Amino acid sequence: MNFDEAPILVFWETTRACELACRHCRAEAMPEPAPGELTTSEGLRLIRQLAGFGPRPPVLVMTGGDVMSRPDLLELVAAAGQVGVPVALAPSVTSRLRTGPLEELRQLGVGSVSLSLDGATAATHEGIRGAHGHFGETVAALHQLRSLGFKVQVNTAVMRANVDELAGVAAIVQEVGAASWEVFFLVQVGRGRDEQELSPEENEDVAHLLFEASHYGFALRTVEGPWCRRVAAWRKAATLTTTPAAAFRLGPLYRRQSPLLRELLGQPTGPAQMASAGTRDGKGIFFVAHDGWAYPAGFLPLRLGNVREQGPVGIYRDHPLLRAVRAAEFGGRCGRCEFKDVCGGSRARAFASSGDPLAEDPACAYIPA
Ligand code: SF4
Repeated sequence: MNFDEAPILVFWETTRACELACRHCRAEAMPEPAPGELTTSEGLRLIRQLAGFGPRPPVLVMTGGDVMSRPDLLELVAAAGQVGVPVALAPSVTSRLRTGPLEELRQLGVGSVSLSLDGATAATHEGIRGAHGHFGETVAALHQLRSLGFKVQVNTAVMRANVDELAGVAAIVQEVGAASWEVFFLVQVGRGRDEQELSPEENEDVAHLLFEASHYGFALRTVEGPWCRRVAAWRKAATLTTTPAAAFRLGPLYRRQSPLLRELLGQPTGPAQMASAGTRDGKGIFFVAHDGWAYPAGFLPLRLGNVREQGPVGIYRDHPLLRAVRAAEFGGRCGRCEFKDVCGGSRARAFASSGDPLAEDPACAYIPA
């Protein structure tokens, strides 16, 4: 796929309205829609413009806030179907996630739905999500979505509060029959706070654990943790004569969680399914906020243009920052790293930590030669 021409995923923050108030919410969601949200006609125009990316338009991921609180959701999804733009939904688990609307969305062609699960226990998940009873509701919703014929993705934000439950979350991902597990590594933005971020060494442990989890029948994707692709490349190429922990000098987090993963899920059931496409913020990924401002990604607050005034195709293809990101014109370790194309570091974290979106990603433990 030529990421200079078109992204693979366009995230549209359809609204900031949401009943929940999660600790790490990027959107800093609120009970009511934010002022200036794209109207129905502006949303319809955006959808038609996405079809202009070419014969294989990107998947439109409609997110929020809570996308189910958009009163025009069915109209927008139907319009996407008419112009051949595939739609995935990322709703919140609230009372709005009901069978009736979901059946209609399925009939309109929505293929996949992702839900957030931020722990393997009610205490952890609900501590992060701030809603009593939400853990059981989320697991039940995952089963419900599967029974309605959706492809299901589980999203997990990994942080200090839940990192020792990752093997347990993997077991739930497998148990609900999810097609994919998307793990997000925190970037300090919105309600995310850096005391929850892991150290580079812990990230390395998690990357190895996720690679191993990807052998159990679901695909593993990461957000703002592209160095997991470096680890996947190493692990795929390695012929080990010792344990991964010894071969890669992994730390206590890996040494605790890896045996637990094996204990909970048993022997691996298939080959690794860890995404290897070298996408990153602005390369394959594009984000449109509730008010029409376009960004390289939801966690990189650098405005590229507003879709109220400029088409998304032109912004994505021509903006100098995105061209530099796609050309891997990075500084620091990322600039001299042999993995800069397949990985390239989190541009959002580079910006959050240094003010330069092309700087190195400080959350990566690798020191290139
Ligand atoms: S140094 Fe940068 S490009 Fe290399 S693996 Fe780490 S984050 Fe990726």
